[in-house]
Amino acid sequence: MARMPGATWRPVPNYTPNGQLEVRGLVVHIMDGTLAGTDAWFRNPASQASSHFGTSRDGRLYQWIDTQHRGWAQAGGNKSWLSIEDEGRGGQSLTEQQLDRVAEVFAWVVKTYDVPLKVATGPDDRGLGYHAMGGKAWGGHTSCPGAKIVAQLDEIVKRAAAIVGKKPTPGTGGGSKTPARYQASINGLKYGYGATGGHITKVGQALVARGFGKHYKSGPGPTWSDADTLNYQAFQRSLGLTGAAADGVPGEGSLKKLLGTLPGKAPSAPKYAPFPGAGFFSPGRRSELITLMGRRLVAEGCSAYAVGPGDHWTEADRLSYAKWQRKCGFSGADANGIPGPTTWAALKVPQPL
Ligand SMILES: [Zn+2]
Repeated sequence: MARMPGATWRPVPNYTPNGQLEVRGLVVHIMDGTLAGTDAWFRNPASQASSHFGTSRDGRLYQWIDTQHRGWAQAGGNKSWLSIEDEGRGGQSLTEQQLDRVAEVFAWVVKTYDVPLKVATGPDDRGLGYHAMGGKAWGGHTSCPGAKIVAQLDEIVKRAAAIVGKKPTPGTGGGSKTPARYQASINGLKYGYGATGGHITKVGQALVARGFGKHYKSGPGPTWSDADTLNYQAFQRSLGLTGAAADGVPGEGSLKKLLGTLPGKAPSAPKYAPFPGAGFFSPGRRSELITLMGRRLVAEGCSAYAVGPGDHWTEADRLSYAKWQRKCGFSGADANGIPGPTTWAALKVPQPL
């Protein structure tokens, strides 16, 4: 049994009993919502979601699951990694208070499970990790917790090291000997170790043209190798990026600077999300699909949002959808704001990644 002293114990029912097979480290997430909303969501068995810890932007710390149990936060990474969800919207940085709380939790994980004081480079490494590093096997959440928070991980390790009273493990902060081996998805295309395609060759050629080709022994070619990662890392550092933000896996900003544009998949084969059923759209539902739906509604001029759209199904979603139904020619009970198969198909909501 392991509960962290100082964390507010808020047990939830969503976990796999005694399912934490090992602890390679702590994975940082962004809630894209509030601590209270997430707390309620994790209490709902239908959500099939949870994490071990959670912070609020004003510095509260919850522990939802004993660390001997497996949380449901990062799919294939759950059995080996503990998890911490952080209050805030995608794209935000963590607050000073959150940096302190995450550092305290990480310091406790370091002491309790003998985890190295460093930023992890991928699922097979150990240390302080983040959701996107797990790639597809961890659910393909490439924007969790977001580049701004990834860039804060070195600072969290530094603060944790001060708590533990040790120096960070050498090789931290992008200087690690093992290149990062996860993939990032940008505009529908994959980058990072093992990714293949003509767009990978183009990145390599652009790196060589800019003078960042010294790690290629052959190529560049269409399959992303460690040499691509190391060359890309050198390019990131030339942009002033440091730490985990310069781990050699492309982010949107650096890729655009390298290529001058963001390549995308041919728009000829769009993949739209199938209608999930009217019952899906109920209060408390949280899904990336709802965010994607909301963005399409806004694009169609059917917004009733004061903020957002976000990933929780809200009254603003319903009112926006009712506008779309009226735009499609429906009225009365057929325009009640609860999606139906016809208007859903017409809206062309993209598939979540
Ligand atoms: Zn996440």
